[in-house]
Amino acid sequence: MTGFLKFFLLTIAATVLACADAHAEEACHQERIASLWTPTAQRLEHLLSAKPPPEPRVVFDLGTAPADQDVPENAVIGSYDRRDDTIHLMCSPGNVGLAESTFRHEATHYFLHHAFQRLPSWLEEGMATYMEAGSLDEAGLYDHINKDRLQEFKGLLIRNRLPPLDELISGRTDGLGRSQEYAICWALVFGLLHQEESTVQEQRRALLRRMVEGAQHDDMTTEQSVAKTFFDAIKDEDGQSHDWEMQWRRELWELEE
Ligand SMILES: [Zn+2]
Repeated sequence: MTGFLKFFLLTIAATVLACADAHAEEACHQERIASLWTPTAQRLEHLLSAKPPPEPRVVFDLGTAPADQDVPENAVIGSYDRRDDTIHLMCSPGNVGLAESTFRHEATHYFLHHAFQRLPSWLEEGMATYMEAGSLDEAGLYDHINKDRLQEFKGLLIRNRLPPLDELISGRTDGLGRSQEYAICWALVFGLLHQEESTVQEQRRALLRRMVEGAQHDDMTTEQSVAKTFFDAIKDEDGQSHDWEMQWRRELWELEE
C-alpha cells in the first residue's frame, strides 16, 4: 500500500470513528448528564452538610434503554460500581428524563459512598430515590415530590401493607417487592426533609444529619445507631413513637400526586 493510500484510509477510519463517537454522545445525552453533577452535589452538600467528592466517572455501557417509559421494573438502567468507582448507565435516546433521573440516583450513591463510611441501606436508597426527581434547588415542598414513588407508597397505605415504623427503620421489609421498598425509603427520607412548617422541617433535617453522623461510629451496627438516634428524638413523654408515625403517614397521604 502506498504511503498516500494508507494516509487516506486512516483519515477515513478516524472520521468514521469521530462521527460514531459524536453520535453516541448525542444519543446518550452525555453532556447534559455531566452537567447534572454540580447541582446534584450542591444539593446533597446543602442537605447533609457533607463535602462533595470529585466529579464521578460515567460510562454508558449497559446497552440502550427503550424509547418509551415502559421500562421493566427489574431492568438495570444504571448502577454505581464501588469496585471501579464508576457510574454505569444505559443510553436512552428517546427518554432523556429516565437517563437524568437514573444519573441523579446513582450520583447520590457515589456521593454518599465517598462522604460517609456507613449508612443503613434504607437511608441510602431513600436519599437516592429522593434525589431522582424534582428541583435540585431548595423550592416548595411540592417541587420535591417523586410522583412515582409517592403513588406506590400510597398504594401500600391503601392496601394496609405498610410495615410499622420500627421495622422500616431496622430495614425489615420482608415480603415486599423492590420498588415497594424503594417507595418506603423515599417516603421516610421525604418526611425527614420536608414539612409545611419551616421550624418542624428544620428540626427534622437536623435529626436526619444527626442520624447520618451517628451512623459513622463503630460502637453499634449502622442500623442500630440510626434507629436509636431516630427513636430517641421522636418519642413522646410516654416513650411512644406512634404519634410521629401517624403524623408521617398522614402527611404523605395528603400529598397530591
Ligand atoms: Zn439505588
